[in-house]
Amino acid sequence: MAEFSLALNDDQLQVQKWVHGFAEEVVRPAAAEWDEREETPWPIIEEAARIGLYGLDFMANAFADPTGQMVPLFLEELFWGDAGIGLSIMGSVLGAVGIMSQGTPEQVGEWLPQCFGSEGDVRISAFCVSEADAGSDVSSLKTRAVYDGSTDEWVLNGVKTWITNGGIADVHVVVAAVDPALGARGQASFVVPPGTAGLSMGTKFRKLGIRASHTAEVILDDVRIPGALVLGGRERLEERLARAREGGHAHRQAALATFEATRPSVGAQAVGIARAAHEYALDYAKERRQFGRRIIDNQAISFLLADMAMEIEAARLLVRRAAWLAQHGEVRNAEGSMAKLKAGRVAVWVTERAVQILGGAGYVRDHPVERWHRDAKIYDIFEGTEQIQQLVIARAISGLRLE
Ligand SMILES: Cc1cc2nc3c(=O)[nH]c(=O)nc-3n(C[C@H](O)[C@H](O)[C@H](O)COP(=O)(O)OP(=O)(O)OC[C@H]3O[C@@H](n4cnc5c(N)ncnc54)[C@H](O)[C@@H]3O)c2cc1C
Repeated sequence: MAEFSLALNDDQLQVQKWVHGFAEEVVRPAAAEWDEREETPWPIIEEAARIGLYGLDFMANAFADPTGQMVPLFLEELFWGDAGIGLSIMGSVLGAVGIMSQGTPEQVGEWLPQCFGSEGDVRISAFCVSEADAGSDVSSLKTRAVYDGSTDEWVLNGVKTWITNGGIADVHVVVAAVDPALGARGQASFVVPPGTAGLSMGTKFRKLGIRASHTAEVILDDVRIPGALVLGGRERLEERLARAREGGHAHRQAALATFEATRPSVGAQAVGIARAAHEYALDYAKERRQFGRRIIDNQAISFLLADMAMEIEAARLLVRRAAWLAQHGEVRNAEGSMAKLKAGRVAVWVTERAVQILGGAGYVRDHPVERWHRDAKIYDIFEGTEQIQQLVIARAISGLRLE
């Protein structure tokens, strides 16, 4: 196995520069407006599709990078521009990863392109796991999938909540219980095609941050989909359920498999927000004068800026190493969880300290740091809360089935 290296090749440097340009010229100038509107920024997603940043080809190439570095690299740049808009552009990746990690080659070939659409016909997808009574505890999903042999269809019923792109997506990937008695081992993922009767949007949530990203309930009311739309195929599902019923070794949980693959990428988004806030606070501290000197001339401020820089570097290193390990199939000690946990905490701390460095200016909407602070908090919560990451790490380092 090649050594882990932070050195970037020409391709990576080029993509980094290109995405940074888009983040600087298109995303950041639009961030305050879409944060206020609390709506999906369609024109920006369309522009991303036009330049080739939003689309299956770019995502597939980035995910195929053998070093694993391309995805965290471009995400850091995009989210440096704005996290709400960034998530609107990247929300489809969750559904796509669900299909990629669990689907048969035929399912991947059919449904992956439909998660993104094409330039001029942009599509989006959603990955629907969470429910009101099943957030961290994904083993207790109440959404049911029942197979109707008479029509060769699955019938889905339930309510999903806090779903990114929920109800407005073209393709919804839904995790549901096929055999609830088996907990997580009795679950499977299903593709719900565009326009399927019975799927609708419930409440659209108003949020603290990442407000340009749409979050809503997804209501599944007797949703009928073809039998072939269970990811991985019915035969494999039946075998897996039979093994689980016998108490044998079970396949990894459907939802957890997806989260595992995406954690370093989520960490990279948090690093982008933290870096934006640090740069802004550093510039401000060099300009702002009080007591006849620049505020950075006080060690309370310059040392804080030094610590912020160090924490961001530490988070980035964990993210990049976790991404490299994941690409080499070398995940052993919950490195993805460590990366996501550290990056989320760093983003929250750095953005809060950035508000402090700007003082009153940091608290008002004339400057972006209050928005960055609001945006950062979600990284302690979604894709596994801080405590769930700690649990995953504690289990990995101890080898014990800790609760
Ligand atoms: C903006 C946004 C977007 C989202 N997007 C999606 C999406 O696209 N798809 C999707 O499926 N979900 C999505 N979610 C849901 C998200 O993944 C959940 O909110 C998250 O998993 C936490 O679940 P919960 O909110 O029910 O919190 P709970 O599980 O109720 O947790 C509440 C608190 O208890 C703690 N806790 C819970 N269990 C333990 C334990 N065993 N030990 C110690 N502490 C514990 C938690 O860490 C947390 O602090 C999104 C959420 C938000 C807010």
